[in-house]
Amino acid sequence: MINAWAAMGAKQKLEPFSYDAGPLGAEEVEVAVEHCGLCHSDISIINNEWGFSSYPVVPGHEVIGRVVGIGPNAKGVKIGDRVGIGWNAGSCQHCHQCLGGNQNLCAEAQPTIAGHYGGFADRVRTQWPWAIPIPEGLSPADAGPLLCGGITVFAPFKVFDIKPTAHVGVVGIGGLGHLGLKFANAWGCEVTAFTSTDSKADEARAFGAHNVINSRNADDLTRMAGKLDMLLVTVNVPLDWRAMLATLRPKGRLHVVGAVLKPIPVMAFDLIMSQKSVSGSPTGSPVSIAEMLEFSKRHNILPQTEHFPLAKVNDAVQHLIDGKARYRIVLDV
Ligand code: NAP
Ligand code: ZN
Repeated sequence: MINAWAAMGAKQKLEPFSYDAGPLGAEEVEVAVEHCGLCHSDISIINNEWGFSSYPVVPGHEVIGRVVGIGPNAKGVKIGDRVGIGWNAGSCQHCHQCLGGNQNLCAEAQPTIAGHYGGFADRVRTQWPWAIPIPEGLSPADAGPLLCGGITVFAPFKVFDIKPTAHVGVVGIGGLGHLGLKFANAWGCEVTAFTSTDSKADEARAFGAHNVINSRNADDLTRMAGKLDMLLVTVNVPLDWRAMLATLRPKGRLHVVGAVLKPIPVMAFDLIMSQKSVSGSPTGSPVSIAEMLEFSKRHNILPQTEHFPLAKVNDAVQHLIDGKARYRIVLDV
């Protein structure tokens, strides 16, 4: 039996939940969880904000643990290896996207926490390519949030070939955003943090921001007009999108990774005249995650964390909902 914490319905508190996972699948590995980050997406799935939750929901998709079981066809890891599991715990492995190395874009990608039981548990399973070895020297207690939050803000730098000479803005200095500041700085960019919480300014600078502005202050946004090559949006709430687009230079990109549920209106001429783009992306492929972990190790990038024991998971969820997390919560199993 696997002992987990689950929400039995939308907006319910998590409660202890044991399940029999059955025989290990041929391509699966089983991981004994040591630590697991708490991402805002866990809350959105607990609350069925995206409409595809399936209960019981066992959240947790920033897992660090040791491999304790290997299916007969699983490759790449061995018993005792320390691995991480992020948003995905499987993909078809034979479509164009999977074969092209974009497994995170597979139409059949299996989210770790929807239609599958996640990492707020003593053990969790994944298809083997999504069990990513954790490099020696990267603190296992704090590396978990790199597996979802980290890769989500790292991947755009690779996907869009962002140059170290670029000026990058990050909107929302939470779990994803504070890692975005660290990656953008280590990438060599000039970095501006956009926060709605003025008391985060000093820490934002410590994470790597050269400038800090208020994401809800019209004068601050006007002062940024025409300055950015990429604006990485990690918030999940509506903002003044026209003012955000106006912060871009010609050829600049507004890149949305936060799950904003309201439409983002865009005027054609705001894009046309300066050849701007609006885009989005979901986490990253296994190879991108591995590269991000190597980059993080080389540049000493880890999230700033607050630890809770797994038994206090409901307190941890409330702490994040209240906007008090500084800057990523990790549950210790
Ligand atoms: P988080 O830790 O809660 O951070 C979100 C940040 O947004 C907050 O810290 C806050 O930053 C800002 N914010 C919140 N409410 C705001 C408001 N009313 N006005 C202005 N700013 C506000 O969440 P997270 O875990 O980083 O996740 C962020 C989003 O990314 C979520 O929607 C999550 O589901 C999504 N996500 C997407 C992917 C993907 O693959 N695309 C992967 C992981 C997560 P300030 O205090 O600095 O303003
Ligand atoms: Zn996540």
